[in-house]
Amino acid sequence: MSIGTPSETKIGPSDLRNVAIIAHVDHGKTTLVDALLRQTGTFRTNERVVERVMDSNDLERERGITILAKNTSIRYRDLKINIVDTPGHADFGGEVERILSMVDGALLVVDAFEGPMPQTRFVLSKALAQKLKPVVVINKIDRPDARPAEVVDEVLDLFIALGADEEQIDFPIIYSDARRGTAHLAPDDGNEDIKPLLDAIVETVPSPSGDPGGPFQMVISNLDYDEYVGRIIIGRIARGTVRTGMNVTICREDKTRPAKVGKLYTFEGLKRLEVPEASAGEIVALMGLLDAGIGDTVTDPEHPEALPPITVEEPTLSMTFRVNDSPFAGREGTYLTSRHLRDRLDRELESNVALRVEETDSPDAFVVSGRGELHLSILIENMRREGYEMGVSKPKVIFKQETGPDGRKKLLEPLEDLVIDVPEEYLGRTMEHLGTRRGELTNMHARGGRVRIDEIIPARGLIGFRSDFLTYTKGYGLMYHIFHGYGEHRGSIPERRSGSLVAWERGTATAYALSHLEDRGIFFLGPGEDVYEGMIVGEATRDKDIDLNVGKKKHATNVRSSTGEELVRLTPPRRLSLEQALEFINEDELVEVTPKAIRLRKKILNRHTRREARHEVYVGESDES
Ligand code: GDP
Repeated sequence: MSIGTPSETKIGPSDLRNVAIIAHVDHGKTTLVDALLRQTGTFRTNERVVERVMDSNDLERERGITILAKNTSIRYRDLKINIVDTPGHADFGGEVERILSMVDGALLVVDAFEGPMPQTRFVLSKALAQKLKPVVVINKIDRPDARPAEVVDEVLDLFIALGADEEQIDFPIIYSDARRGTAHLAPDDGNEDIKPLLDAIVETVPSPSGDPGGPFQMVISNLDYDEYVGRIIIGRIARGTVRTGMNVTICREDKTRPAKVGKLYTFEGLKRLEVPEASAGEIVALMGLLDAGIGDTVTDPEHPEALPPITVEEPTLSMTFRVNDSPFAGREGTYLTSRHLRDRLDRELESNVALRVEETDSPDAFVVSGRGELHLSILIENMRREGYEMGVSKPKVIFKQETGPDGRKKLLEPLEDLVIDVPEEYLGRTMEHLGTRRGELTNMHARGGRVRIDEIIPARGLIGFRSDFLTYTKGYGLMYHIFHGYGEHRGSIPERRSGSLVAWERGTATAYALSHLEDRGIFFLGPGEDVYEGMIVGEATRDKDIDLNVGKKKHATNVRSSTGEELVRLTPPRRLSLEQALEFINEDELVEVTPKAIRLRKKILNRHTRREARHEVYVGESDES
């Protein structure tokens, strides 16, 4: 984000509207914000507009999700409208509430064909609980398959299901074609600009409350970093006025400490604008408050009154991150030690509020818990891009115990709302999978050769499902899931059955060996790749691990059979993504993550030691029974 020049204009609560934008991935949130920015003159004609202005993080672009909430603003009818982007995924649990605490209204963007999706539902439920005023935008009305009237009904049903109050249910509806930048009161009214949407925001969303004359008070909702100025804290001023250089008190729980505000910025268009002061209602970025964290209240030193801390949802999934002790450790990464891991995780904890890190008996391993697979795999992915190496264990869901009214203890587990959309021919297979994974059907309808299935399913049941699903639907299946809540444990779910193909010694895989071992399973690597003893090189066809020598070379006497022919016959390896690798591994296995590679391995690399350990487990188990 670039930084603009100081401005003299003073803005009070009545000059402001603060609104969050909520949508399922790809329903058009970014395109809509671009249109709003353009038509309110935020882009100068010579300014190059990147197609999707809001998602700037590489990873966000790749995965099409918004991870970090961003702020933008537009000017319309003498008002300043701050638009806050919301993370759409429950895996960023804590963040949604924090972001929504800065606004008074929400733009709910829904695709005119797809209708409400799990993400829409999740974030909308938070917005309604915070009593925000919604404006519903039915986007992509230009789609040939658009069915705006039905989608409006579905949105209304969703509001009712989520317990919206009467005022919220009375939401205005705007139809839009965000790509052309047009908004409409009726789908076919022929309007040619975005104004109806702007008017709806101004008329529906109230001005922020708060007395600009009172003592300063603001909760920190977000953190940002800037390579020049360091940590930046972001929040909405609840009361009073903040000025450059002002002394403040930072309140955390019942502790307080003095601090001094450095520079002060508001958001103008896509930029941060330095200002001398800002008052109640405005969303600001403050520099210089080095050790303030999310949820802290920054106050006037004379009135150190903390606002209620922002609630953060409990983690539902954990993994162990450990120092990479594979024979290839240090080949590709820069940061390898337990000290590196610990410092990086500590840094993450400052802004990633739904994350937990616990020490273990070993100084080289940390249990990292978060809001789901996506939450943790994004952290891992960011770390490997920054140069870290580590070993990661199989994800485990976090169970809870509850004592019922009869005094009986109940085991609870995290459940997910799952939506699946598949071509009809895969319906049977999908229902069978979901059944064994203890899914519970809540809704199903067919439309145009495809079927949409809504289920509530244990988070456990989803581990390992996605890669299967994408394979058997040949990429034509879509699935989304989002945290639903904790529910009673639903009983056992079969685990992965197949064993691993394990390299038997260090070496380099050869085409000769791979082609002769093809009947043992599917390989994850191809000829020429280095392996070490205990590294997993494929998935076995049978249900036990198989140790094999993938580095075997052809004897010199066999020169007559041509190598070229073997290369041609070799089945291409199955390359696992980080998520697929995490889903594949068993308890006694790890994913080795480095900036360049994702390898799978046995925890115990030596095959003799491994056999002994297996034997002990076996004896132990039979003792118990
Ligand atoms: P986001 O993930 O919600 O930010 O969605 P984007 O704004 O990135 O839009 C996703 C895709 O939908 C892009 O390919 C857009 O060009 C397209 N899109 C957005 N709005 C419209 C629209 O009104 N009509 C049509 N036909 N496509 C749209």
